Amino acid sequence: MSEEKKKLKVKLKKKEEVPSAEGEELFKLLSKIAKLLDGVEGLKGVEIEADEIIIEGVTPPLELLSAALQAAPAPAAAEAVAAPPKPELEAFKFEKPVRSYVGKFEEVKIGATKEEGGTRAFTLTVGGGETPAMHAFEGQLPHRPVIAHLVFDEDPGLPETLLKYYGDVKDDPVAWARKCVEEFGAKMIFLDLRSTDPHGTNRSAEDAAKTVKAVLEAVNVPLAVCARSGDMKKDVEVLKKVAEVAAGENIVLYCGSITLPAILAAGEALAEEIYEYFRAAKEYGHVIVTYQPLNLPGIAVLNKAAMETGVPKNKILIDPGSVAIGYAVEMAVSAMDAIYNKALIGDESYQMPLLYIPANAWMYRECYDDVEEWGDTEQRGHAWELGTAMAALMSGAHLLVMLDQYAIEAVENFLDRLYMPKIESVRELLRHLPGSNCKACGFEACRELADAVLKGEADVDKCQRLGDAGKRVVRRLLSPPSPPAVEPEEVANWIKELP
Ligand code: SF4
Repeated sequence: MSEEKKKLKVKLKKKEEVPSAEGEELFKLLSKIAKLLDGVEGLKGVEIEADEIIIEGVTPPLELLSAALQAAPAPAAAEAVAAPPKPELEAFKFEKPVRSYVGKFEEVKIGATKEEGGTRAFTLTVGGGETPAMHAFEGQLPHRPVIAHLVFDEDPGLPETLLKYYGDVKDDPVAWARKCVEEFGAKMIFLDLRSTDPHGTNRSAEDAAKTVKAVLEAVNVPLAVCARSGDMKKDVEVLKKVAEVAAGENIVLYCGSITLPAILAAGEALAEEIYEYFRAAKEYGHVIVTYQPLNLPGIAVLNKAAMETGVPKNKILIDPGSVAIGYAVEMAVSAMDAIYNKALIGDESYQMPLLYIPANAWMYRECYDDVEEWGDTEQRGHAWELGTAMAALMSGAHLLVMLDQYAIEAVENFLDRLYMPKIESVRELLRHLPGSNCKACGFEACRELADAVLKGEADVDKCQRLGDAGKRVVRRLLSPPSPPAVEPEEVANWIKELP
């Protein structure tokens, strides 16, 4: 910066004829700027290197503009005007805009313990909120959203990023489910029976039911089972059989092909089969999912139809259309927003908790295609599912179905900070241990290791079956992070420092 005050000398010279009308206009403008600057005294904070602006011609006009910008001391001219006085801030008390709502979401329980007629080690409950998504300051959001780990009953052609997690189990759904529970600490499995697709392997409903039975025997966490081949007749047939073999387990049945347009196209006979499917869910005590992609009236119609056949309201979940970021996630977010509005003003057809499948992101090439200018493929895949999951979570999804362990861990981490859970009893810790009682840790059963960990006499590292991710979760929940403490004085200081 030049300390010495001196007068500016600014001249604008045109060395040749300006060949365009725009150029002539620009030249006139620059002449005015030059006149204004000429003779200005003691510009503060700016060093002027040129006493002359020489225009070497004006085509193309952008080049001329760029040269003028380099030479013209515009910010200094602005600084020369005295700044208005800073207004005094008035102290005020911030009141949270708390509203109350007449409706609330149902609480849906998934899984059944031995005492309840099933074989699960614990049950999970989703929903029950009485405020818009994330509005914990307005009322109760009683249950932490749940992440179900997606397992396929045949290899869907996993990309490299996911083979890192599932390469050794991709052809065995039982081993895959076990790995999710034991190694990754899954609290729920979502089994996709893709092998039943009539356009693919076309396994029978009976075969699929055997797989479901085997998975139920291999893991003790709550289960969801999905058929979404697009062939409504086959999907319904498969899920009716699954409902039967899983009687009493209170599993979630997800049919991805019972959509309103499909029902209308299928005619009366098939519509009657759908009612039979609803009745099977009711008879064997399961939860159903009504899937209507981005179609609010369709959701209401299906929910009413299910309830008319006797499926209780607290045995229904809604999938509003689980699309990924880049593929109309904003429409799904709007649909969820509308469902919340309807549920909270008391419309019973929409008061069922929301299920969302961020794992669907892996259907899109942005997740796995090796395109150099798109950046690192692996990181992109993680980010695509994670971004989709966060959009769904922020929009109020109660149950997420996820595939990528990196994304799952990131979302669980986020939920830990939001819900601040803390493991304080053997029962709670047991929910995070594999439950196989294999004795490899030197204790007779998982319960004994859990007891020792809570007393501070052993570390969860002793478990030989729980994977690193699962151990990280347990450690985090044994001593959860504290919320960042912000003192009111600190906030007041920030405000004072605002420009
Ligand atoms: S190592 Fe111990 S805690 Fe882990 S599964 Fe076996 S018995 Fe349970």
